[in-house]
Amino acid sequence: MRPDLLNPLFAETEGLKGVGPGLARPLGKLGLTRVRDLVYNLPDRFVARRAVGNLDEAAVGEQIVIALTAREHRPSTGRGPYRIMAEDALGNYVALVWFGRASYSAKKLLPVGEKRWVAGRLDQYGQSWQIVHPEHVAEDSGALAGSLNEPVYPATEGLTQARIAALTGQALGMVPELPEWIEPGLLAQSGWPAWREALMRAHKGADAAARDRLAYDELLANSLALMLVKASNRTRRTVPLRGDGRLRGKLRLPFALTGAQARSVDEIESDLAQDAPMLRLLQGDVGSGKTAVALHAMLIAVEAGAQAALLAPTEILARQHAETLQRMAAGTGVQIALLTGKTTQRGGAKAREAILMGLLDGSIDICVGTHAIFQESVTYRNLALVVIDEQHRFGVGQRLMLTQKGKATPHCLAMTATPIPRTLTLAQYGEMEVSKLDEMPPGRQPIDTRVVAVERMGEVVEGLARHLATGAQAYWVCPMVRENETADLAAAEARFAEMQLRFGDDVVLVHGQLRPEAKDAAMERFVRGDAKLLVATTVIEVGVDVPAASLMVIEQAERFGLAQLHQLRGRVGRGSAKSTCLLLRGEALSEVGRERLALMRETQDGFRLAEEDLRLRGGGELLGTRQSGDTPFRVADFEQIARLLPMAHDDARLLMERDGGLASPRGQAARALLYLFERDWGVQLLRGG
Ligand code: ADP
Ligand code: MG
Repeated sequence: MRPDLLNPLFAETEGLKGVGPGLARPLGKLGLTRVRDLVYNLPDRFVARRAVGNLDEAAVGEQIVIALTAREHRPSTGRGPYRIMAEDALGNYVALVWFGRASYSAKKLLPVGEKRWVAGRLDQYGQSWQIVHPEHVAEDSGALAGSLNEPVYPATEGLTQARIAALTGQALGMVPELPEWIEPGLLAQSGWPAWREALMRAHKGADAAARDRLAYDELLANSLALMLVKASNRTRRTVPLRGDGRLRGKLRLPFALTGAQARSVDEIESDLAQDAPMLRLLQGDVGSGKTAVALHAMLIAVEAGAQAALLAPTEILARQHAETLQRMAAGTGVQIALLTGKTTQRGGAKAREAILMGLLDGSIDICVGTHAIFQESVTYRNLALVVIDEQHRFGVGQRLMLTQKGKATPHCLAMTATPIPRTLTLAQYGEMEVSKLDEMPPGRQPIDTRVVAVERMGEVVEGLARHLATGAQAYWVCPMVRENETADLAAAEARFAEMQLRFGDDVVLVHGQLRPEAKDAAMERFVRGDAKLLVATTVIEVGVDVPAASLMVIEQAERFGLAQLHQLRGRVGRGSAKSTCLLLRGEALSEVGRERLALMRETQDGFRLAEEDLRLRGGGELLGTRQSGDTPFRVADFEQIARLLPMAHDDARLLMERDGGLASPRGQAARALLYLFERDWGVQLLRGG
């Protein structure tokens, strides 16, 4: 049970003053449904403003606070803005400007002849000063004291900065003091504040010590939870699986395993022969041949008289896996079935019934499917190995560890194509065993990657037309990030419409906001080859295999993370044809942005890209570091992970060694920490085991 002390932090934000149904939605969209979410929603940055006595003291482009007196209102004519001409203490004029709907409220803010305090950015427009959409207007200077150093929060539509700031203030008021979980020596040496103070300070100004402490907390919670799961796994027993090789001997694969594949199979084989459940990660870049390794692992289980299951994240991937495995295992006599939520609709209830029977009586050896394969109605005669194919870019490790919670613990193998830097491997998978496919199957053609200025869009579309005319398929990828969702979605839809005009029904659109059925239907048309061009946001990142697609265009490539670009690019280059990836870049590209895209052109080594990405981001590139899904962390950013994680990891290990039951006062504090960061599955295992 969660310690009572934390209750105020888990109160719903809907209960805060001034939150009605209108705010609940945007708050939900930002994931700010509880007080803890609000207080951990740290500002992206702070705007520093300077109070100036008159305009002559200010510089163009500067954020200022200044007293002004309105002299004249100039309502908008047609599509023009609403302007208020105002005067400073010296008689200098400045135009306060509002566009669109914002002008309605502006009218009342600055009555002619009255002095007001205005905060905003001073710009030059022709020969005159102007402030577009002043941030604040107040009657007395005291009301703007807080705006001299103002937090800027991650925004979403329907939620103003002022609103978020006010709610965050309320939430901070509910924050209790918590017992210290950081080792006292480390705390003193780092000069970090106590937890509550760190939160307060992190919202007040750019405070490195405060933010480091909060990030460290999150990393410590994660390390500790992973260690608890691992420790619990060590105490469990399961059935050892020893294969005699009779099925593997009948495999007629059209290729020999690479050294890396053979080594991974060996590592898995020796894990399976133990009576402790296997907990292993198979990490291999896209195209490195994870499927063949998974098949070998599953055949070992079947040789040992047991069943195996392969869990895929989507219907389409499950179907693709089932077909591939059936083809590969054709000569072995092994029975492989596909079970998804759709199995009923497709083949009728009878087909589903037959599969369920087969799993129950053991005539089906391997079951491939979506989460449907673990529904209560599905009973296995003897399921001893579960293979989990990549789900989210992060999180597979945790999910794998969670399978260890059940009573009968199967052996587990997770497969991921996410090439993450070494420091992050530790963050994500804790002390899990890792097999690495660090060698590509021979004969792979490199993907011809080019960086193209967006001004040459016309040529790119002509090239695409020629490509499609040969009967080949292509991807067109548009960026989509949370901070900019609405505009990004609109841009993707506009691009789709444009492509449809040009290429007609051969084009499909896939993005995250489509209903799952619509998304599946569109994907399926493309996978079957009925549709030739897939316009998509990043949802195609994981998994699909369409060998006939040999061209990928990525718009605004500079807005993607390198690892993400690499995953995307891995969707092409899967067939025999030479593949091309065009990275369209925007007009204004930073030095770092240029370097990152050049790297993409230079290498196809996912691990190298991941390391470089971390290095370049650490070098000050903030753009995209908080893109959802990039790390399993909300508070710690890339740079902090790299710097603080090793410390957190050691600290967690030390605590586990001294007090594995988390019973001491510091152990109790650490329990609270686990709940605070919702890594409490670790605590639950502790009590159960
Ligand atoms: P991923 O790791 O991305 O899941 P796959 O398992 O889909 O990779 O394999 C990618 C392609 O490489 C498949 O077409 C597969 O048949 C082929 N392949 C796998 N192993 C080898 C090998 N040792 N030699 C040649 N081709 C291989
Ligand atoms: Mg795969």
